[in-house]
Parts: sequence; structure tokens; C-alpha cells
Amino acid sequence: MPAETGPRIDPLVPESRLPRVGTTIFTVMSQLAAEHGAVNLGQGFPDFDVPPRLVGALSQAMADGHNQYAPAHGLPALREAIADKTQDCYGYRPDPASEVTVTSGGSEAILDAVMATVHPGEEVIVLDPCYDCYEPAIEMAGGTAVHVPLDPQGFAPDWERVRQAITPRTRMLLVNSPHNPSGAVLGVEDMRQLEALLRGTRILLLSDEVYEHIVYDGARHESVLRYPGLRERAFVVSSFGKTYHCTGWKVGYCVAPPALTTELRKVHQYNTFCTFTPAQLAFTRMIREEPAHYRGLGGFYQPMRDRFREQLQGTRFRPLPVPGGYFQLVDYSQVSDLEDAEFCRWLTIEHGVAAIPLSPFYRSPPAGQRLVRLCFAKNPSTLDAAIERLEKL
Ligand code: PMP
Repeated sequence: MPAETGPRIDPLVPESRLPRVGTTIFTVMSQLAAEHGAVNLGQGFPDFDVPPRLVGALSQAMADGHNQYAPAHGLPALREAIADKTQDCYGYRPDPASEVTVTSGGSEAILDAVMATVHPGEEVIVLDPCYDCYEPAIEMAGGTAVHVPLDPQGFAPDWERVRQAITPRTRMLLVNSPHNPSGAVLGVEDMRQLEALLRGTRILLLSDEVYEHIVYDGARHESVLRYPGLRERAFVVSSFGKTYHCTGWKVGYCVAPPALTTELRKVHQYNTFCTFTPAQLAFTRMIREEPAHYRGLGGFYQPMRDRFREQLQGTRFRPLPVPGGYFQLVDYSQVSDLEDAEFCRWLTIEHGVAAIPLSPFYRSPPAGQRLVRLCFAKNPSTLDAAIERLEKL
């Protein structure tokens, strides 16, 4: 083909590092919800207040002049508080000096952990459906995501399938419990199997536990930090945004053994260097002065979950079980046969309720799956308005 008729290539625009990445489905659906005045049960953020003690502590910290860089790894007082909280929750106290790093949200911790340890050509196993920030992190590190599906009904891992996906190039396995988007949780037996699977390998574990405090029906969260054979090889990621209803503050942390923490901190140092100082003081006070908040978070959300599920009984949407997290998956096959992304656009534009389709969480979505994700971390009036619209379908 003559040069002048070929595609125009702008020499200033390099080949994309992330050619398969577009705008996240959460942003797309939130924008569509805003344009059409829809009730937004799509993006996972609470629409109720942040605890007053936390807001007061944040204002106080700023008024008191704590407005400059924090130490790169996090304020020592906050890392101490996190270590004590971890002991309180999981019976294991990480060393705050060498094993706890404060990050700008769980997302930064995930990116740092992957960038710090995954080399070009290595593989990272992810369990589909999975949260959308994992694969871009793996690709930016030059690695390859190997997708292993969860069971399409209960979203449990098939550890034998995971074992079969392991190759000599496998560097990391990524797990998420409570799980986004399904709310499934890993149990004791999963942790035992995981321990057996990884024993004697060089495979690291990245455990995304940002919904750690949101578990229901008296269950306990099976953190990787409870299991010595797992935590010796793990980055465990938490998010204050999820625990304290302040996703916009973007503060989280990572617990990992000293050698892994050293590597993670190298990336963190040149990624963000440090995290918003006043919030670090505020979270320190919140953990110390109101531990009932994180201890009681499942109890706080449970009535919201139960009420929403009861309301859904009056619609043609079939709710799936929700053992953890603040998302409700619903099967809409009684309402429509559209595929899920199309269905979500239709639901938002024509019926005023924004939901999140499940297919973007997969490399290969199961054929014919008719599930969407609704977030119930909302005021009763928001949920009532959504249900009123869903009942008409
Ligand atoms: N992991 C999962 C499973 C999430 O749902 C989220 C937030 N939606 C994150 C990580 C990121 O957490 P943060 O907002 O603290 O960056």
C-alpha cells in the first residue's frame, strides 16, 4: 500500500501500554446514571455519612497544622494502630516498622505489590470474575494474567483448576474475599487448600481484603493473616475507604513480611511517596477511640442487606446469596434476555436504575449469564426509589 494511503501514525503517540483498557465500567455507568437522572446502584460507594468522629479528627488534624508530607511508609502512630487492629481481628500482630505500609487506597497497594514482584514474562493467576484493576497492574509489570473461572453459581474457587493453571512462570496468585462482584467469601477449607497448593512453591499471594469487616450472619472473615503458611508469602490489602464509608479519601494499607514489604515500599516511594497526612492522623484516632466501628461493620450492613433482599422479592429480579461485602447480584432472566451490558444501559436509560454488568469482570464471561451487580450501601430512601422502579419491570 502506498505510504500516503496507509494509516496516519502520530510519531508523538506511542503504542499503548494498555491497549485493552478503556474507561472503567463504573465510570461509564455513573456517567450514564447522572445523564439520565437514574438511581445509581452501580458504583460501589456508600451514600451515607462518614462517622462524625472521623470527620472531626480530620478537620482537627488540618487545623493543627499536620499538612505536610508524612513519612513515606505511613505515620508510625497509624502503623502501630493498624498492627493492634490486626491483632484484635486476626490474632496476629504484624511488625509496624517492617510489615505495615500505608498507601493511597487499596488500589495503590495492589499496583505496588504487583509492580514490585512480577517480572516481564511471568504469570499471575486471577480468578474470574475479578475486580478490574488487577489485570492492568499485571500488564504494566510486563506479566500475563492467567484467568481461572470461579464456579458460576456460588463463585467458589476450584482449587484443582487453579493447580492446573500453575506453570514454572507463575509468580503470583490473586484472591479477593469478600469478593467483588459476588460477595462470596473464602472459608477455612479454602484457606487449607490454598496453603497446600502454595506450599513449597515460589508463588506469592496477593490477598485483596478490602471488604474484610463486612461479613454476615455471624461468620468470621478468614483473613490470610490468620494462616502462617499463607501470610509468609502474602501481600494483604485493606482499604479504610470501605471500612469508614469514605471511598473518596483513598487511604488503605498493605501488610506483608519484611522482605516483601521492602520491595513494595520501593515502588510506593516513587509512585505516591506518601499518603494524605491529615487522614492518617484521623484514622489513627478512629481505630483507637472507636474500635466498635470496624468490629460492628457487618452488623451495621446486615439490616441493609436483609431489607434490600426482602424488597427484591417483590420484583422479578432473583437475588443471589450475599455472605459478604455490600453488593447484591441479581439474575434478571425473568425480566429480559438482553446481554448484560446492553441490559444495564436499557435499565438506566429507560427505567432509571443504574447497575453494573458482570461481563467486564471476566476475560470470557459464561455464555448466557444474566447477572448484574447492585450496591446496597445506600440510604433507605435511595434503595426505596430503586425498588419502586424495579417493581414496575
Ligand atoms: N479491591 C476491590 C475488590 C475493590 O472493590 C476496590 C474498590 N472498589 C478496591 C480494591 C480499591 O480500593 P480503594 O478504593 O481503597 O483503592
